[in-house]
Formats: sequence, structure tokens, C-alpha cells
Amino acid sequence: MHCQKARQAITLYLDKELEKAAENEFLGHIKFCVKCREEMEFRSRILKYVAIPEPIEPSPYFFSKVKAKIKSIEGHSIFSPARWQLTFASAGLFAIMALVPFVASIFLGNIYMSQTTDTALVSNQKTKTALGLDVFDELPPDSLGATYNEIIRGV
Ligand SMILES: [Zn+2]
Repeated sequence: MHCQKARQAITLYLDKELEKAAENEFLGHIKFCVKCREEMEFRSRILKYVAIPEPIEPSPYFFSKVKAKIKSIEGHSIFSPARWQLTFASAGLFAIMALVPFVASIFLGNIYMSQTTDTALVSNQKTKTALGLDVFDELPPDSLGATYNEIIRGV
């Protein structure tokens, strides 16, 4: 047996799927070929780590027990009045908490809007002065600034 064929046979040997003649041939090669023996030992060690444990079989009444438990839980939670009361109470509380900022913003907006309309002209003039925007208000009629103002204002 050549090394290439022996390497292919390693996995089959470890899985105990080699026929008797092939197994004897493989073992004969392994006995004298150090490299193939090392390769087999290496793969054997890996197989120990990745070995799949025995499948666990559920008890005969496992699924019927699970179904019964699910049914009992569904019966309790969905149709009990206490659960519905709690649900409606929390929904109502949530709605109120969502409405509070909305209503508050309407009231605050009304107050703000009434203040701004009353003092709009005054504060507009204050801002204009503070920022120096009234610099071009009183310019000689034929000056470049007055022409610029006419163009900007569309007068
Ligand atoms: Zn070999």
C-alpha cells in the first residue's frame, strides 16, 4: 500500500468501515511507515475532541406533556380577566403619558405665539439695532447704499 492510499484509508479505519483485507493491508503499512502512523494518531486525537455524543432520546410522554403544559399556560394567561385589566391599564397609562407632552406643547405654543405677536415689532427693531442692520436705513438718496437698498427691497 502506498502512502497516498493509506492516508485515504485512515478515516475509514478510524470509523471501522474498512473491510478486513483492506484493514490488514492498512495496518501492515502503518507498522512500517512512521509518517502515516503519526497522521493516523493525529486524526484519532482530533476525532476524540469532535466526537458526537450519543443522541438523547426524549421520554415517551415528553411531547404530550409539553403540549398539555402549553395549553394550561395559554388558558391562564389569555382568558383571565386580571390579565386583561392589567393590559388595559398599562395601555391607558401609556396613552396618557404620550398625550401629556402633546397637550403641554399646544398650551406652551399658544403662550409663545401670543407673546411674539404682541412684541414682534419691538423685538424685530431691537434685533436690527443690536446686529447693526439699520446701518443702511438712513442713507443719502443718491448714494450707492440707497441704490443697493432699493434693489434689495424692490422699491
Ligand atoms: Zn505511509
